[in-house]
Amino acid sequence: MANCLLPGFINTHVHTSQQLARGIADDVDLMTWLHRRIWPYESNMTEEDSYISTLLCGIELIHSGVTCFAEAGGQHVSGMARAVELLGLRACLTQSTMDSGEGLPGSWGTRTTEDCIQSQKELYTKHHDTADGRIRIWLGVRQIMNSTDRLLLETRDTAEKLKTGIHMHVAEIPFENQFVIETREVDHGTVTYLEKIKFLRSNLLAAHTVWVNETEIGFLSRAGVNVSHCPAAAMPLLMRCAKSVLWDNEIGSLEVGKKADMIVVNPFSWPMVPVHDWISSLVYCMRSENIVSVMCNGHWIMKNQKILNVDEEKVIRTAVHASNELLKRAGIQIPNRMNVI
Ligand SMILES: [Zn+2]
Repeated sequence: MANCLLPGFINTHVHTSQQLARGIADDVDLMTWLHRRIWPYESNMTEEDSYISTLLCGIELIHSGVTCFAEAGGQHVSGMARAVELLGLRACLTQSTMDSGEGLPGSWGTRTTEDCIQSQKELYTKHHDTADGRIRIWLGVRQIMNSTDRLLLETRDTAEKLKTGIHMHVAEIPFENQFVIETREVDHGTVTYLEKIKFLRSNLLAAHTVWVNETEIGFLSRAGVNVSHCPAAAMPLLMRCAKSVLWDNEIGSLEVGKKADMIVVNPFSWPMVPVHDWISSLVYCMRSENIVSVMCNGHWIMKNQKILNVDEEKVIRTAVHASNELLKRAGIQIPNRMNVI
């Protein structure tokens, strides 16, 4: 049976910084998740932690056939950029910004709107279009509950000036919509408000965006907003994903003149055989076990399931150590939920 060549997958919402946080915040409500686990974790991260976390995350992405991803927003973009450059991946990297809201960790609570915009401009100057054009810098807004109107509007205008994208969590939970109704005087949630302040544009990548009504779907559609719904394991093979990361002129399909981002799929193993209909098998059966080689920007970054640019075992060892140290620093203790003999 022949192998199959596909365009590299594009993951439109990746938290590279949270890779070292696996298992620290499952089965808790979203507010506990944020305030008691993820924020203390993220605010204690160093740039080196972010680098290690992105390396580990990148290894998973490459094994999954991903050649390009959109970072959802973390604190140390320079650490991410160093890892992406080394791994050989393509990415839209984003700093997570917040300039208001309750319960923020001490070091974040003092950040002004100017700080948020200025630091992103500096990151753009330093990293945009680096690593042979594989790295792009986007603007980031964590979510509306931690953003002033000024931050939203300046983010919109700065992204337009720099001709880049904006990545933001939008209408993720019912509480968010309720919060917006109470604090911003609109009759529905985040999307209604973003429409009101003319924030919705085709360079916006809205993540999650599940708590929307029919009118709001109309707003998103008319503005051409890209939505990343993030169902677990969703990795559509469509040009639509390349459009979402504003890169469809160069990637997203195998065509003469486009960048060589592609993956080799070997269907001849238990997840995929027998193959009667290629589309069916690729969409419903293929697993990372079937992805044997990955090329990004014309260079192999995995061959015969071996990651080429980093030592996978060494990254794993380093990541386990860094993660334990980070949790200690952040004072996060995970309850033991299982008897171990
Ligand atoms: Zn997210």
